[in-house]
Amino acid sequence: MIPFVNLVEQRNRYRQEFEKIEKEVLDSGCFIGGPHVKGLENDLSGYIETHSNLVKNGLFDVPKVHTIACGSGTDALTIALMALGIQPGDQVIVPNFTFIAPAECVFLQGATPKFADIDRKNLQISPDSVKKLINSKTKGIIAVNLFGQCAPYGELRQIAKENGLWIIEDSAQSFGATQNGQQACTFGDISITSFYPAKPLGCYGDGGALFTASEEQANKIRMIANHGSPGHYDHQISGVNSRLDAIQAAILQVKLKHLDEELKVRETNAIKYNQFFENYGDMFNPQAIAEGNTSTYAQYTLRVKDRDRFTDKLTKAEIPFCIHYPATLDRQPAFASIKGLQEPTPNATEASQQAVSLPICAFTNVGSIIEKLKNVL
Ligand SMILES: *Cc1c(COP(=O)(O)O)cnc(C)c1O
Repeated sequence: MIPFVNLVEQRNRYRQEFEKIEKEVLDSGCFIGGPHVKGLENDLSGYIETHSNLVKNGLFDVPKVHTIACGSGTDALTIALMALGIQPGDQVIVPNFTFIAPAECVFLQGATPKFADIDRKNLQISPDSVKKLINSKTKGIIAVNLFGQCAPYGELRQIAKENGLWIIEDSAQSFGATQNGQQACTFGDISITSFYPAKPLGCYGDGGALFTASEEQANKIRMIANHGSPGHYDHQISGVNSRLDAIQAAILQVKLKHLDEELKVRETNAIKYNQFFENYGDMFNPQAIAEGNTSTYAQYTLRVKDRDRFTDKLTKAEIPFCIHYPATLDRQPAFASIKGLQEPTPNATEASQQAVSLPICAFTNVGSIIEKLKNVL
């Protein structure tokens, strides 16, 4: 059976680099924090600061990026909300079609997630829908870079500015994406990513990171992630314990070196799928990539009108698939106690009924998947 994300083949490909650095960490006796975690934080900041095409062309000043590694993408969202001063009773706008973490983290802080609709074609949070949800209790927006491309930050920034809101950029699926030449993880007041193994930049367990241009905010984030203590046993606030293991940082240092090559292959794979599905007219609607964006293709996601029939065929052809996501967040039992707040979100509902994701990682043979598809469609 083809794996949905081929982490075994990826390990085979970079095996020597992994084994060298893993031994280094295990022999060092330093397992939490230390030089590899610092090293990774510097590498991630460096990647973001220097990668932007605008920077390369001299059209954009090199941004200052502070990177703080932590225990997971979900932790990163919680820490970001705490750093921005979320309070019980506050409202935060999140997309209704995404992984639960953004809404869950808001809810866990005693605040209320408000669920915005998405764009029907590119599946990103809809700025028009965001506008309709704003009221005096609204404090911010968590914009998710869904499936690999950035949310519409031009419009979102404008809305945030006009209404005095902050933005958290959830780039769990999209480290390495760009929008108008600017790198993902630079669009939020605080931006986050996840290193869950199946993400485009994943480690061998849980991991995450926060990014901010503000040194003050970076210090606050470090303090919150370290039990609310800026140093040793000096607890200014009640914080959390959220840190990245040294071994995970080392693995990520290796994978980051290969990220650009992998993103290129993912893009080539997406073109192959696009060309194939074009032959079937509007039976299949691949996620549109909005003008000015590049995608990390966390998965290859398309809307299919008769999803059950299609997934039956995929099963028959032994092609792995995932349903991201089978229900909109406002329908999750976890949020059943939020009363009378939700607006209808028809595009999010449609996506939850039609979206299917196919494998696309740099070690997936998309040509052979397409051959299998031809036999069953
Ligand atoms: C994976 C994911 C998260 C959570 O990341 P973890 O590292 O698994 O906690 C948050 N938001 C989105 C959009 C995700 O896809």
